Amino acid sequence: MTTATDETHDPELKSWVDSANAEGTDFPIQNLPYGAFRRRGSGEPIRIGVAIGDQVLDLRLASGRTAWPDDVASLLTLLAEGDLNAFMALGPQARVTVRRALSAALAQGSAHEAQLAGCLVPQTDAAMNLPCRIGDYSDFYISVHHATTIGKQFRPDNPLLPNYKWVPIGYHGRASSIQVSGQAFYRPTGQIKAPDAAAPTLAPSRRLDYELEMGIVIGSANAQGEPVPMEHAEDHIFGLTLFNDWSARDIQGWEYQPLGPFLSKNFASTLSPWLVTMEALAPFRRGFSRPADDPQPLPYLDSPQNREGGAVDVELEVWIQTEAMRQAGHAGDLLSTSNLADAYWSVAQLVAHHTVNGCNLNPGDLLGTGTLSGPQPDQAASLMELTSNGKRPVKLSNGEERGFLEDGDTIILKGYCQRSGLRRIGFGECRGTVLPARGDRAA
Ligand code: CA
Repeated sequence: MTTATDETHDPELKSWVDSANAEGTDFPIQNLPYGAFRRRGSGEPIRIGVAIGDQVLDLRLASGRTAWPDDVASLLTLLAEGDLNAFMALGPQARVTVRRALSAALAQGSAHEAQLAGCLVPQTDAAMNLPCRIGDYSDFYISVHHATTIGKQFRPDNPLLPNYKWVPIGYHGRASSIQVSGQAFYRPTGQIKAPDAAAPTLAPSRRLDYELEMGIVIGSANAQGEPVPMEHAEDHIFGLTLFNDWSARDIQGWEYQPLGPFLSKNFASTLSPWLVTMEALAPFRRGFSRPADDPQPLPYLDSPQNREGGAVDVELEVWIQTEAMRQAGHAGDLLSTSNLADAYWSVAQLVAHHTVNGCNLNPGDLLGTGTLSGPQPDQAASLMELTSNGKRPVKLSNGEERGFLEDGDTIILKGYCQRSGLRRIGFGECRGTVLPARGDRAA
């Protein structure tokens, strides 16, 4: 369990990068998340960077510009090659070593300031890439509030299926269509069958939705055939990101039986560019518990550490900016808020469950949490829930309404951790835009 804190978490710690000390920045010196980028408009190789205030520290440059202790230097040399997966595979100790070195080097009063100042790139000049290679992607369903609300729409008398409180429900998704924040994708076309129609037709989805999720990014692998026990599950997690699992509800409704979602989900998914490490999240942990009347987790999904601090307190927001808002210079409307800590299963339980049969996870594998709806109706994390399947459209501040997404809509996910006495850290943005279906575009 990654709950140990050290000098890098000191809320009083300040950076010589002034913007990192600004109130409300997502990237104070206590955060130090990893991303991959190149300078906008350049053809330079992708490099790994660490976000600090409104800048990125280019690790390709930083590796060679100043003297580092030997253990740090060898890790930075690996990072300088631009392959985050190779670093991720090393596990938590390598991360802690680099975190402590970068924290000291970026802190006020550091002797490295003069050399490292030349390794900073303004984030506005950085074209972000996916932070790592995502080999495999599995998606879970860990919000009992989401599962219950969606279940009610299909089965009003029996919303939650009997396995839900015993098994972390998941399915295997597709990694090829996952792109970094800023993604614009065509409205998908698929088989759709209206309830009163005799046969389906092939048409662009009219019930396109977002899903506010978080991504759990795997660091070190487990060997095939070797389950990861709960006590070690978080040793295999590199960090967390924001994740939007775009979903076509009309395609989903027709195709999902009996094997689950397929083309309704795999046309596009959007990931935020910064991987916030488990070390940065360490001060924001919360106990994990179950209502006394619910089944308690089976022993392989339980541990004292999980009960003590298995939940992660991440506050989440969904924003919409329509095309009309964009043209009017309007930043968008807040649609809903929720919190990862309200989920029914913890991140450690997802790793323990995913591997209990011997399935091997690899560096860069992505586990989606599933839609993170909270207990209150206004904490619904998809339009299907927020608008009761399109029947009660949300009214936007500029007079527009949305049952489902329209062409030109941009959805922006945000997330942050804040707690009294600690420095707030954030995840940046996960932003994606719906383009018209390909057949609908003007020639
Ligand atoms: Ca999903």
